[in-house]
Amino acid sequence: MIFRQLFDNISSTYTYVISSGIGREALIIDPVLEKTDQYIQLLTQLDLKLVKVIDTHIHADHISGLAELRDRTKCITIMGEQAPADVVSMHIKDNESISIENIQLKALYTPGHTDDSYSFLMNDRVFTGDTLLIKGTGRTDFQNGNSYDQYHSIFDRLLKLPEETFIYPAHDYKGENVSTIGEEKRFNPRLQVSSSQEYASIMENLKLSNPKMMDIAIPANKKMGLSIEKQKKLNGINFEKLLNLSNKENSILIDLREPIEIERKAPIKNSINVPYSILQNYLKDNKNLLKNKNIIFYCAVGERSSLAVQTSQSYNLNQIYHLIGGINNL
Ligand code: FE
Repeated sequence: MIFRQLFDNISSTYTYVISSGIGREALIIDPVLEKTDQYIQLLTQLDLKLVKVIDTHIHADHISGLAELRDRTKCITIMGEQAPADVVSMHIKDNESISIENIQLKALYTPGHTDDSYSFLMNDRVFTGDTLLIKGTGRTDFQNGNSYDQYHSIFDRLLKLPEETFIYPAHDYKGENVSTIGEEKRFNPRLQVSSSQEYASIMENLKLSNPKMMDIAIPANKKMGLSIEKQKKLNGINFEKLLNLSNKENSILIDLREPIEIERKAPIKNSINVPYSILQNYLKDNKNLLKNKNIIFYCAVGERSSLAVQTSQSYNLNQIYHLIGGINNL
């Protein structure tokens, strides 16, 4: 397995690059915008194909690299379902899994630092975002943070994991890079409390100043999604036109979502499912079948379908459309 912990010393953010091996699919957790070149260089050197990037929550202290990585690599962007609707191309729910080739991450909804905070469990390790830090915990005084929620996220979820589970947080300010559940149970000063009230009173008395980047980072991080204007320009069509076109004989309607999303919301009638992550192989294998057809893509919010239009253009297919705003907008 390839596992890299990268550090941004301006925001003290840890970013994780994960893959099952050289030449395989890769996933990135909590990228920092200014470090994008470094991530791309590492991906190139290890011959990795970036397929998914995750933000554990809307960050207040740095601008996320999500949108830049999506634009440069056409990867899927992911956050929890509580994140604003048009920020990422795919939302994930508590206990659902995110998968790439040979790797699975289980999403754990762990609110408290913010109301959209998730942790991600991968076998022997858990990425805790700003919910649980090494010998500390994320502040709970903005972005709908809540000390009681955080207490329950930590005590009722994270600390219930096996004691030897490694903890990889989104930040560290003291030069630590990894810990375990057992160590944090015993030595994290904020966790030596006997009730949620006691925990909340510690958190409420921290009196921290706001992060320097906060007023820039939060609005920027809420605008990561591909705008409707950009979606329109990439052969975007509305639902009415989609129905008209897909009723024609020479048309093929493709749902780009993953099985977990289709379970949540039924597909449009007469569509076939080609998850976005396998689209390139599908296009390669079905070149002749797709020639001279109207191809109409749709996904959850219109991002993957926009990227699919761009991808298809390099396969010499000419009539390609996609549903603006995706199926979640219907
Ligand atoms: Fe944070």
